[in-house]
Amino acid sequence: MPVLPRALDLHDELTAIRRDIHAHPELAFAEQRTADIVAAKLAEYGCEVHRGLAKTGVVGTLRRGNSLRAVGLRADMDCLPMQELNGFAHASKHDGRMHACGHDGHTTMLLGAARILAETRDFEGAVHFIFQPAEEGGGGGRVMVEEGLFEKFPCDGVFALHNMPEIPVGHFGARPGPLLASSDRFDIRIKGYGTHAAHPDRGIDPFVVGAQITLALQTIVSRNMDPIDNAIVTIGFMKGGSAYNVIPDELVIGGTARAFRPEVRDLIERRLGEIVHGTAATFGAAAVVDYTRNYPPTVNDPTEAAFAADVAAEICGAAAVNRDIRPSLGSEDFSYLLNARPGAMLWLGNGEGAGGCYLHNAKYDFNDSAIPTGVSFFVRLAERFLARDDAAR
Ligand SMILES: [Zn+2]
Ligand SMILES: [Zn+2]
Repeated sequence: MPVLPRALDLHDELTAIRRDIHAHPELAFAEQRTADIVAAKLAEYGCEVHRGLAKTGVVGTLRRGNSLRAVGLRADMDCLPMQELNGFAHASKHDGRMHACGHDGHTTMLLGAARILAETRDFEGAVHFIFQPAEEGGGGGRVMVEEGLFEKFPCDGVFALHNMPEIPVGHFGARPGPLLASSDRFDIRIKGYGTHAAHPDRGIDPFVVGAQITLALQTIVSRNMDPIDNAIVTIGFMKGGSAYNVIPDELVIGGTARAFRPEVRDLIERRLGEIVHGTAATFGAAAVVDYTRNYPPTVNDPTEAAFAADVAAEICGAAAVNRDIRPSLGSEDFSYLLNARPGAMLWLGNGEGAGGCYLHNAKYDFNDSAIPTGVSFFVRLAERFLARDDAAR
């Protein structure tokens, strides 16, 4: 079964919706216009519509029959705070706001799937179409889960697509286990004792302490972690001092830590604190560590990732589905949904893109030719998931 004929019928209409959303990008928790469009379309198609979770979140529901089985399909609606450099007709009409991550495409494809499933209703149970705000750092997915997404809309599984340049249109990327990393950040404030640059013996130099800490932090990945695991600890900035002949009181070091497994994430946070405090103490300095956990790793349930890859293969053929795609050290707040329910995120091929640019580039544009593939995937996935007998699981 290739791409659904109905998805091809709707291609022009969905392309128009996608380009309209692209032209009117909205930032985290301010996706009012986009949410209005989503809610209106869902109602027009015949879905029950719920609004207000995570401020601008929208959930559409289709039910049929008496089965209690339910599946969640998720799209994100927010844009990025950056200036679009494209000159085409559907380029952003708002300075400093741009759909450079293809969330306009995700929203559109899920609307297309809702429309077809509402027409065909070839399932028993419930399909919840989850449109979340604020994926780009705001944690809209986390807020929806915290505000009771899965209590209000119980789901046996939850699935999402993210468009991916470098994968051809009509192809998918999947993998069991971690697909994306956690994303944490840290600030280290080293408190030395200021003095004249020519009399370091009269003070405690925070730069020397900071340099030792910077090098020692690299031993978390190289010496503390199981070498089969992957992670990074990157220093992004150092701020301190203002004169050639002054040793200042303080130095602030900031950076990011990323990991694919919760245990590795815990290890990094613990060792970072031990190294900073131990090193500072060695040199007679004090240190304060502020470690902030942002998105957790995005971990696909192996069974659901294989199931979703089977559905993708049904649409595009087995040869077009890479079931062992390389993970990325980027991060996603679909992770919060996957921590709450089994499911999977797959990459949807977006082709070369304009000029071959990557996600978050000022010339990025979701590839409309990928719409029918993504729509067909969501439709078939919902039907197959609800028809599945999980008693054997
Ligand atoms: Zn993004
Ligand atoms: Zn994204």
